[in-house]
Amino acid sequence: MSTTVENVVIIGTGCAGLTAAIYTGRASLNPLVLEGPMPGGQLTTTSEVENFPGFPEGVDGFQLMDNLRQQATKFGTRFEQSLVESVDFSSHPYQLITAERTVLAKAVIIATGASPRLTGMPGEKELFGGKGVATCATCDGAFYRNMEVAVIGGGDSAAEEALFLTRFASKVYLVHRRDSLRASKIMAERATTHPKIKLVWDSVPVEAMGANEGAVSGLKVRHVKTGAESVIPLKGIFIAIGHVPNTAAFKGALDLDENGYFVPKAGSQVQTKVPGVYVAGDCADHVYRQAITAAGMGCAAAIEAERWLAEHHG
Ligand code: NAP
Repeated sequence: MSTTVENVVIIGTGCAGLTAAIYTGRASLNPLVLEGPMPGGQLTTTSEVENFPGFPEGVDGFQLMDNLRQQATKFGTRFEQSLVESVDFSSHPYQLITAERTVLAKAVIIATGASPRLTGMPGEKELFGGKGVATCATCDGAFYRNMEVAVIGGGDSAAEEALFLTRFASKVYLVHRRDSLRASKIMAERATTHPKIKLVWDSVPVEAMGANEGAVSGLKVRHVKTGAESVIPLKGIFIAIGHVPNTAAFKGALDLDENGYFVPKAGSQVQTKVPGVYVAGDCADHVYRQAITAAGMGCAAAIEAERWLAEHHG
């Protein structure tokens, strides 16, 4: 175990984590950021971000995260690639256990985000990653030039993925289990009126076809009202049905709700029941889930950590 005790360790490099790094770095706390398997977080899988304040022309998601990282680095943030597997908050300094070592910290900001949810249908796992089932159109869309694909889901992500895929695919089936999208009005309107997008209403995915051949050949769906099953022949299936918070490593140490999201202390968005341990971003927010709200929580967590450290470990 390293005997160095960090002032503040930030777990995660999405909008929340990097904003916390900018603030704690600028407060001369010399933050250490532990970087998980998806540097930059979910925004790096988005193409154009149109609603982040300050960018009237929109900004590329990857570019935005790279900017935040540069800004954090400028104020002395150190980055280390390691995945926190478990924690011990029962004594101080707090312990963050990774595969490589145990990191000791006076204060901790957890900004581990959320990962795409899968449907669990047969064929999905077998055909995931390079074989036709994907969760990121920005990453994989270009492989489906002039092919037919499907997007599963009815929220903003599904609408966004479907619209993005129209740049490459010849046709995009948007498969949703209801008869209207829950996406914001502007996104729903764009998706439902796009000539390349065909809405498949009231339908749930049943099977990703093609597991035996090692490549997606179709999507079997069931109409929820009639029970009728049919197969849509296509080459790609993009799943956009929401996310699961990345909080498993903290189970038992902090309060989680029934869906696995962190439950902050009453009256705060970012404080936890453990003094000096804060949460920020999508791992703790199942309501707003926006880049700007995650950044705001990262900022709030950083200010709380800074005050707590000054008061207790100044
Ligand atoms: P979401 O809003 O939770 O939508 C998930 C969709 O998947 C819902 O339509 C849901 O159906 C469907 N679904 C869930 N489980 C399913 C299953 N097992 N089988 C089939 N369908 C299933 O998630 P999201 O679209 O990822 O959006 C998350 C948040 O990020 C939202 O607040 C959204 O506004 C925001 N966001 C914003 C933007 C933007 O502003 N540009 C882009 C992306 C996301 P039901 O409708 O029946 O529940």
